[in-house]
Amino acid sequence: MTTLVAQLRPLRVLPSVRRVGDSVRYLHRARGSDKVAFAFDIDGVLKQGEHVLPQARRILKLLSGQNDTLPKPVPFLLLTNGGGMTEAERCKALSEELEVPLGPNQLVQSHTPLRDYVMDYADKPVLVVGGQGDAGRRIAESYGLKRAYLMQDILAWRSSVWDRYVLSAEEEAFARTDIDFASTPLHAIFVIHDRGLDWGMATQIITELLASDGGLLGTRRKRRFGEEATGEVPLVLTNPDFVWGTDYPLPRFGMGAFRLALAAVYNELTGLDLTYTQYGKPYHETYAFAEKMLRQHIKGMGRDPSERLNVYMIGDNPESDIAGANSYGWSSILVETGVFKKEEGPPVHTPSRVVKDVEEGVMWALEQEGW
Ligand SMILES: [Mg+2]
Repeated sequence: MTTLVAQLRPLRVLPSVRRVGDSVRYLHRARGSDKVAFAFDIDGVLKQGEHVLPQARRILKLLSGQNDTLPKPVPFLLLTNGGGMTEAERCKALSEELEVPLGPNQLVQSHTPLRDYVMDYADKPVLVVGGQGDAGRRIAESYGLKRAYLMQDILAWRSSVWDRYVLSAEEEAFARTDIDFASTPLHAIFVIHDRGLDWGMATQIITELLASDGGLLGTRRKRRFGEEATGEVPLVLTNPDFVWGTDYPLPRFGMGAFRLALAAVYNELTGLDLTYTQYGKPYHETYAFAEKMLRQHIKGMGRDPSERLNVYMIGDNPESDIAGANSYGWSSILVETGVFKKEEGPPVHTPSRVVKDVEEGVMWALEQEGW
């Protein structure tokens, strides 16, 4: 169930926000609200590129109840538009980096909500685009897709599909050759990540499949240029971010930029607007899925999963983290350690609070909740 705390209650203005170290005695005395929960973006909030922010480690340890500062652990999950690894692999890697154990219900990547979407395709051949090496196939199989094919499989079938790209020995080894793409249709296209994604090859193959006769490669559906599209292979995208924050001084292009490039090429070829289903922040489905996961996590903590929640989303990107949280009815906290730069003007979507970093954001939210 969605909470409406941001709209229903005016936010208190506090003179300053206590740091963890200053707040120990205060927090010991406090009887904080049981309703508080957090959703953290990762890139630009907990990490900058490969670098984990030390304040992120401190604050997640605090919420996990690792240092006895809080009277009880506070539920949280990580909600990222990143991906490209299976959830199990990413959970393990993040637990080590952040130095807090993360459970299976504490991570939502851009493609995780597909778990609830792909059942209809369980036994059908589908194309999975993106992910380092054969990670795309492993992710798809972990969601129950038994016949997930990769762009490398298509190149192994016929290299002239995109002769600018030469398969490495590793790719030759994992490429599947048990399918003839000219006679076996692909039923859907899932673009799950841009790591390992060759924009040129992906644009060629996706455009061809969308314009194909029933998902068969090497065919073109008969239709006059610009005529309304029908019977297209469904295209599902999972990360709408135009840019994202790393340790580089300027934001980098994300999968939203790839979609714009793909849409321009597709329109040039067909005269049509690109049609697609979009997952990831700021879309409602992703927040609904995240709240469902958060409630499963709360159940795992031995608490009532149907209790009312005041969820605080902490993110660095106004257009994804903040826009999505605001429209879903969560509170939103914007940090200055990633995409958002205060000196470039006010954010395009107004958060409940702008803070220096994730630690300041959590401490502010806990104060709002009477901790
Ligand atoms: Mg981010």
